[in-house]
Amino acid sequence: MKQIVLLLSLVLSGVGLLVLASCKSSQPTRSSKGQIWERELGAVALSPLNPNDAQKELNLKVDLIPEGQYGRRLFREMAPQYITIHSTQNPTGDAYAHAKALNRGALRGGVCGYLCWHFTVQGDTVIQHLPTNERGEHADFDGPGNRYSIGIEMCEHQGNSQLATMERTAKLAANLMYHHKIPIENVRAHYHWPREGYTPANKDCPHFLLENGKPGTTWRWFVGRIQRHYQRLAAFDEAAKEQRRLEEESRRRKQMVQRLWHAVTELVGLG
Ligand SMILES: [Zn+2]
Repeated sequence: MKQIVLLLSLVLSGVGLLVLASCKSSQPTRSSKGQIWERELGAVALSPLNPNDAQKELNLKVDLIPEGQYGRRLFREMAPQYITIHSTQNPTGDAYAHAKALNRGALRGGVCGYLCWHFTVQGDTVIQHLPTNERGEHADFDGPGNRYSIGIEMCEHQGNSQLATMERTAKLAANLMYHHKIPIENVRAHYHWPREGYTPANKDCPHFLLENGKPGTTWRWFVGRIQRHYQRLAAFDEAAKEQRRLEEESRRRKQMVQRLWHAVTELVGLG
């Protein structure tokens, strides 16, 4: 009888454990925003990508602010060391509307009196407003964000695909890293550049890539995505370098055989 009771209690506790285990596993693990977006976008390909082809993929339109006017009123040369990511928080203006506003000096502010930045991205295109060797007014007045960074605004107008905009921005940032030799740690959210005299000094921008107004897992995912796009361009260079090395080696080998052949024919008096 004692044995039966023991057996029964063992069986019951086993059932209890099973129920507990199934309860635990039936609770869905919540995916982070970055994980959801990564699934929707699909993984970045690993194959090397020709930087010229990568540039074509951007669908870049150059519509610079008139030289010497508005945001380009003062010529201020810049050697870019950083890339700053923003979002417009404008539910109505697309990239073309922002280009128009910049080109007629409609956005006032900053040190020179006019706001300006380098690129505006929407789902299907990128518009360039400033040459990348001129400073903009988009981040932190006279701080390093403005003095040394290329500013990119992501559109948020209704009907625009946020996912496609983020992906095009990631590709643009990767291209800029490649062409200006900017390391991934220098890709910054606007948040990273404190604005003197403002409370809070660090802006919640780009807000949909931050958690509670600060860079967290979503920002890290986005930076990772940029880095993976950049690695394709770097891999193309590595492959081209290897190709050149192999060609040079084969050329040298051919030369050596020719020289050897020449020496032999000289020796036997055929030359
Ligand atoms: Zn911003």
